[in-house]
Amino acid sequence: MKTRTKVVVIGGGIAGCSTLYHLTKEGWSDVVLLERNNLTSGTTWHSAAQVTNFGMNQTMVGLKKHSIELYRDLANDPNFPVNYNYADGGIRLANTEEQMDAYRHFTSMGRGMGVDFEVIDAEECKRRHPLISTDNLLGGWWDPHDGNIDPYQLCNALTGRAKNAGAEVYTDTPVTALDQYKDGTWKVTTHKGVIDCDIVVNAGGYRVNEVAKMMNMHHPVASMEHQYFLTEDIPAIENAGHRMPLLRCPISDYYCRQDKNGLLIGFYEQDCKPWGMDGIDPNFVNALCPDDLDRVTDVLEGAFARMPALKEVGIRNIVNGPITYTIDGTPLVGKIPGKENAFCIIGLRAGIGEGGGHGWLLAQQIVHGEACYDTWCLDPARFTSHTNVELTSLKAIEDYQNEFRFHFPHEHRPAGRSAKTTSLTPIMTENNAEFTVVNGWERVDFIKPTKDFKCTHSFNFDEAFSVVGKEVANVQNNVGICEVNGFNRFEITGEDTDSFIDRMFCGKITHKPGRVGLGYLLNELGMIKGEATIANIPESERGPKRVWYGSAAASELHDMDWLTQHIKQDEKVSIKSLTNNQTILIIAGPNSRKVISACSRENWSKEAFPWLSVRECFIGFSPATIMAVSFSGEMAYEIHIPNESLYAAYQSLTKAGTEFGMQIFGARAVESMRMEKGFLAWKHDLITEYDPFETGLNRFTNLQKEDFIGKAALQKRFASGLKKKLVCLNINCKHAPAPGGASLMDGDKVVGTISSGEWGYRVNQNLAYAFVNIDKAEIGTKMDLDLFGKLVEAEVMPFAPYDSNFSRILA
Ligand SMILES: Cc1cc2nc3c(=O)[nH]c(=O)nc-3n(C[C@H](O)[C@H](O)[C@H](O)COP(=O)(O)OP(=O)(O)OC[C@H]3O[C@@H](n4cnc5c(N)ncnc54)[C@H](O)[C@@H]3O)c2cc1C
Repeated sequence: MKTRTKVVVIGGGIAGCSTLYHLTKEGWSDVVLLERNNLTSGTTWHSAAQVTNFGMNQTMVGLKKHSIELYRDLANDPNFPVNYNYADGGIRLANTEEQMDAYRHFTSMGRGMGVDFEVIDAEECKRRHPLISTDNLLGGWWDPHDGNIDPYQLCNALTGRAKNAGAEVYTDTPVTALDQYKDGTWKVTTHKGVIDCDIVVNAGGYRVNEVAKMMNMHHPVASMEHQYFLTEDIPAIENAGHRMPLLRCPISDYYCRQDKNGLLIGFYEQDCKPWGMDGIDPNFVNALCPDDLDRVTDVLEGAFARMPALKEVGIRNIVNGPITYTIDGTPLVGKIPGKENAFCIIGLRAGIGEGGGHGWLLAQQIVHGEACYDTWCLDPARFTSHTNVELTSLKAIEDYQNEFRFHFPHEHRPAGRSAKTTSLTPIMTENNAEFTVVNGWERVDFIKPTKDFKCTHSFNFDEAFSVVGKEVANVQNNVGICEVNGFNRFEITGEDTDSFIDRMFCGKITHKPGRVGLGYLLNELGMIKGEATIANIPESERGPKRVWYGSAAASELHDMDWLTQHIKQDEKVSIKSLTNNQTILIIAGPNSRKVISACSRENWSKEAFPWLSVRECFIGFSPATIMAVSFSGEMAYEIHIPNESLYAAYQSLTKAGTEFGMQIFGARAVESMRMEKGFLAWKHDLITEYDPFETGLNRFTNLQKEDFIGKAALQKRFASGLKKKLVCLNINCKHAPAPGGASLMDGDKVVGTISSGEWGYRVNQNLAYAFVNIDKAEIGTKMDLDLFGKLVEAEVMPFAPYDSNFSRILA
């Protein structure tokens, strides 16, 4: 075995094989795959191996599209035979209008990604799949590219091509230890000896946490037992004259595809079973779990009802194997946060279909630092330390039980709730709060008018529409209070803090004590990496001169990794996270100055504390750090309170606020108001696929600055001119917000994609942000939004339509 290489990929299932192949495609040939047994001996060998293009967001559709194109290419390569039933087509069934609308939205999104999904009615479903009954069926979502592949041949073809390009594959080579040298490179110990490398990749499948343990860590991945069976031949299939399309059923929780002249049916039963929670037998290799068809009886009945022909045939074979789930059901593909030169491609629950694409995006990240699509939905940094084994398995069970039931907007499922709360959570509950969840934090979404008030899950405006409108109106006319927990907050200290920050941000950032600035971080390719406020806190009895870096909730590990990896060796900068120590209370509205003046002794006049100021003070007797910043477009104060004083500060503020009409407002009101004011949301409008000029952040970008990360690449992009531009749209419809990912059309041509959409209550307009082709960016340009399969007019309007001269913030 080699003793040195650039990358060691651990695991020879689809995840590892695809990564290895794509590393060679990206130009790295000195790469090695180590497999403890033989290729595919984990989960991959026994997979049902369906390959679909269905995806709930653009990144997932894009990566699956890549898988399909790659697999077709492999299947046509005579050097490595691969059986691929390509383009049998597949139907995802629906029995509610809400599901059908969602499918129409996913179809609109697919158009933008170059994939032609189709929404069909129940009769058409039956025409395409003659075995099904149309009882309790409204229709389905058709993927013309659905099919299935031989997973063993697939992995051999990928590694075969990789080996031809210079990669090496060692089977029967278990990795037993991982140690990091001082320079950040790795020592990989195996039964066959040691191999040193620059980068390691964990592709260990259900043994992910055995490998993670060698790095002293744990990933939020758990395994669930999953069963399918194969039937004997079915005469109706033999006589059909064409292959049956695939089926996925969110009504009764099964999938089904043709296998020989029978069917393969897989089940997602409610009475499901986590696997390997207390360790995995080292001899579980090319192995299966014991059959247990009793568990799936309920699901089976649903499948029988949909396909009566099933009742007539016997079972040929049963397969029960472990399948991995993450805490939100989407894999973890990318850099491992907090670890140098370590990546993972784990938690794949549909790894055969997706694996080609995941390996592609991972290899791009390893080689170029970023992939062609924004990969936040896959980023291992999207969860923080609360995601232990217990929480992961609770969410894995819930996800398994809802396999084909996608999340609707504003839907937060019950498992593993209250992972992160504050002393105000019970008070908000008493006030009838409906909660949303952000990285485990329970955040007020809105205040329900009654305790048992419920919203219908759909893509339309729901029953909370007018409730949220009232919260906005109270902020606009009086004053509102909003708890923002989990907001990311780092304290940056050290004598090189200012120059470090200058290098990290693409624009000018104030270093003036007592002042706050907003700025954007780019990656090396000149694309948007992050957004943060910088508050310069002067030296005080609470600490030395320091900077508070504030960014989106859930960005903690992502931003910490990015910042710390850019501190130069000789730079005196230290960064400490305060995310879990502080909570923000926002008070916003024309009466907010009166409220704050009533419970704090400072001078809050606009002369003494103008917009974008920061000061340390007390709210009542609670220590507070207050910033005059506004996301709502109203006069507002962001009050940062240490968690132990949060309850007391809240009491002081609400007592002072009563006479000024202060009421709680939640995240939905914030979302609406920020859109009216032209503020952007990280990982919606601010993504790695666009640069700051395309995102309209010219005033936050300064190419004359001496240096900043991404400057050289951005200069080149700037010189070649804009191709896309973020615009604000007025959507001519009243029943639904424009959903993220929906396509904007000019005739048959996709000319843009929605990034955010929400009703603007103060401007009384249905607002959306979208990235559009540059020739569609002029104010007044009209185009059509493909909204659930219907075209509605969308017109480009000025950004930030509410109070464009900032008179309310500056009052
Ligand atoms: C019953 C069933 C049906 C399924 N049907 C589908 C489907 O229709 N479509 C679909 O897309 N997906 C399906 N899946 C899921 C899919 O099979 C998996 O997502 C995929 O196979 C996971 O691949 P992997 O490479 O991540 O893991 P694995 O295939 O488990 O590979 C991991 C590899 O890492 C190796 N390894 C572990 N530890 C070490 C170590 N210390 N040193 C060296 N090597 C190590 C293991 O030996 C193993 O070979 C199904 C799964 C099951 C169980």
